[in-house]
Amino acid sequence: MQKVFISREWPSNYHELLQDRGVEASVWPEYDVPTHAEFCDASRGAAAIVSTIEDPIDGAVMDAAGRGLRIIAQAGVGFDNIDIEAARQRKVWVTNAPGVLDECTADLAFALLMAVARRLPEAVDYVREDKWSGWHPSLLAGAELHGATIGVVGLGRIGAAFARRCEGFGMRILYTARSAKPEAEARGYEHAPLERLLAESDFVSLHVPLTPETRGLIGERELEIMKPTAILVNTARGAVVDTDALVRAVSDKQIAGAGLDVTDPEPMRATHPAVGDPRIVVLPHIGSAGLATRRKMYELALQNVMRVFDGQNPLHALVTPQTEGQ
Ligand code: NAP
Repeated sequence: MQKVFISREWPSNYHELLQDRGVEASVWPEYDVPTHAEFCDASRGAAAIVSTIEDPIDGAVMDAAGRGLRIIAQAGVGFDNIDIEAARQRKVWVTNAPGVLDECTADLAFALLMAVARRLPEAVDYVREDKWSGWHPSLLAGAELHGATIGVVGLGRIGAAFARRCEGFGMRILYTARSAKPEAEARGYEHAPLERLLAESDFVSLHVPLTPETRGLIGERELEIMKPTAILVNTARGAVVDTDALVRAVSDKQIAGAGLDVTDPEPMRATHPAVGDPRIVVLPHIGSAGLATRRKMYELALQNVMRVFDGQNPLHALVTPQTEGQ
């Protein structure tokens, strides 16, 4: 019987799904992320690994799984935790699960923007701490979204879903990507180089993958270009932003605030200065944490596994062993 190692428990019907196909599901039983050594142990003998963001999938994990390993199926769209080159060398399929989480993640990015701009966490604390003694015109006044200029960095699946939400708020939309998008221009968005986007935007939202080119994309220099009233939202990956530079920029009032669903380091401890600053809202990487979306992410990952087991090409291949390195 082929073994599938699934690195997180998730209330789904995947046990039945796999058992019906004569596949043994081995699920990591703890809440905490397996360490590298635990991951190697748990992967032993697996023909497939269903992985997620914090799983350290390197050559050692693949070797621990052994020569029977056929596919690493990431249950998410970002895959910066997987050593793609190591998989290519070992002729193992690598897949991800794009598309099914776009709307959910865009919702969260917009919620985060709204939360920082309109100071919602501060307002909730204000009431909880029993400071609400009466109405005052200056009480928790914040930045307004409607009619503002938004800079969308990375207009792919999630960036585009986020931009559609901004359209509904009558925002002027600037975007940057590797290539200009005629469909975006048709919606009235303007392609702008990063520097112009940063200089002109009231809010900037990041939607690029973490790659060698995007690591540290927003650092001291970029933060200096932004308006003092600007807010930065990151639902992409923590390391796209230089965290120390961001904390300094907010603390020095170089920009007005930030909303981070992804952080560097991740997880971010409560003692981190970013968490202690009321103008920075930090969430624990919950962009795609919609109940239906989470189910779809795992179903898509399992679909990719079953297709490979059935001798078919998976739906979303990042590494294709048949055609590369042969
Ligand atoms: P996508 O469709 O591949 O879009 C990525 C966009 O980034 C594309 O527009 C691409 O440009 C642009 N881009 C890539 N490299 C760039 C560079 N060096 N400079 C400028 N632009 C660049 O990806 P997606 O599905 O929208 O996902 C984006 C990222 O969101 C994922 O990789 C993941 O890290 C993150 N994510 C986070 C959560 C969460 O829970 N917070 C959930 C899901 C995803 P082109 O269009 O020109 O190629």
